[in-house]
Amino acid sequence: MDNQEILRKIDIQRQYLEKNPMLNYKNRIQALKKLYKNIKLLTPEINAALKQDLNKGSVEAYMVEIGMVLSEISYMIKHCKQFSSPQRVHTPLAQFPSTSYRLPCPYGIVLIISPWNYPFMLAIEPLVDAICAGNSVIVKPSEISPNVSNIIERLISMTFDEGHVTTVQGGVEECSFLLDQDLDYIFYTGSTRVGEIVMKKAAEHFTPVTLEMGGKSPCIVDETANIPLTARRIVFGKFLNCGQTCVAPDYIYCDEKVKDQLIKELERQIILQYTVDPINNDNYPRMVNQKQYNAMSSFINKDNLIFGGRCDEAMLKIEPTILRATFDDPVMKEEIFGPILPIVTFKTLDEAVANVNKLTKPLALYIFSSKKENQDKIVNRVPFGGGCINDTIVHIATSEMGFGGLKQSGIGAYHGKVGFETFTHYKSILDKKTWLDLPMRYQPFNKIKAFLIKMFLR
Ligand code: NAD
Repeated sequence: MDNQEILRKIDIQRQYLEKNPMLNYKNRIQALKKLYKNIKLLTPEINAALKQDLNKGSVEAYMVEIGMVLSEISYMIKHCKQFSSPQRVHTPLAQFPSTSYRLPCPYGIVLIISPWNYPFMLAIEPLVDAICAGNSVIVKPSEISPNVSNIIERLISMTFDEGHVTTVQGGVEECSFLLDQDLDYIFYTGSTRVGEIVMKKAAEHFTPVTLEMGGKSPCIVDETANIPLTARRIVFGKFLNCGQTCVAPDYIYCDEKVKDQLIKELERQIILQYTVDPINNDNYPRMVNQKQYNAMSSFINKDNLIFGGRCDEAMLKIEPTILRATFDDPVMKEEIFGPILPIVTFKTLDEAVANVNKLTKPLALYIFSSKKENQDKIVNRVPFGGGCINDTIVHIATSEMGFGGLKQSGIGAYHGKVGFETFTHYKSILDKKTWLDLPMRYQPFNKIKAFLIKMFLR
């Protein structure tokens, strides 16, 4: 899309916001309802696009893309009125006579930049939160999943007035141009490398940002874990979307005493969940492109391979693969983002905590243990975005808790109320009454005024 067209879209949104600076909650709900209806209507096309871009099967597509978005819309429709209402707060006695409240205001134009791995959900779910908060939105979906980007554009154009929500398709060039404009909020999901570029560009206009990024999310398994169930849940979380999930367990870090049993159970679960021939399993997604395929297949060699390892370049498919590893191996240096599961072992949980804390702060962490003391040790001593005790990934499938990372894995969060707050600026308003004007704060000061000031401010 050329720059003139992008500027035109921004201009139309500015004009729309001038006419609708605080979109009424009823209009927000109406827009969300229309979005819900049109997603339902376009579900077959969304499924087809996800199949084309990632070979995602329709059940998986509903579970992790369409269904998650519909459930977020339902939650926001239910809570929009309550979230959008002014919130009365206590007023200190020193401010008598007055009332105080926090007024939830939209930022204005929000730019949503999304990645390719959950291309529908990661563009539309933040959009839902931003609309609920009353903003106008420009969605820039990923150029790497073009079929889904096209259906997103269609969905948006048939649902919203262009001044309310619009799409800009394109890649680095279009995204950079958008980032050069003085927009009001930037919500970015993607790699940490590009997150840094986004944050630097945002700083030029002092534009607030939410950055949803990735990292190496550990899956810690201690000697007390229920190993068959642990393996089942790790295989679910790791190989969903062929490992191309920001919150996928990046690596297993297990007590050396349970390593052999865990590997045996992981192998069993891979076969149970993906058959003995995952490459030809039509419900097993593929790598998004040749670059990702090459990066993943290069990790596998005969010295580190424990299980799996077969690849099909023509189909861009790599079967679920388990590798033995140490923290010094290349596979442990960066986020994996594919169906490669390295296993590293520890002797004590304290050693595990110390080693995980040497890496950058992960987006997610999973601890499998039946001992409360061990669960608490990990949850309290390792900084991470969010996670599960005895499960993987499912902490993100709720509108009741925020989702986000910290430092290199993210800044800020969204989903549900936290998502509404992310896209809202709260004006703190003190409404002072005029029927009384206490003289205490005015010059000239005297002993009584000094006494009263000290009495109120302590
Ligand atoms: P990416 O950073 O390459 O691209 C993300 C978006 O940024 C795309 O829309 C792209 O067009 C744009 N972009 C790319 N380079 C740019 C540049 N130089 N200037 C401006 N814009 C640019 O990420 P990706 O490869 O699409 O996604 C994979 C990454 O996203 C992984 O690191 C993963 O962990 C992370 N991720 C995080 C979450 C989360 O919710 N925290 C979810 C999914 C993916």
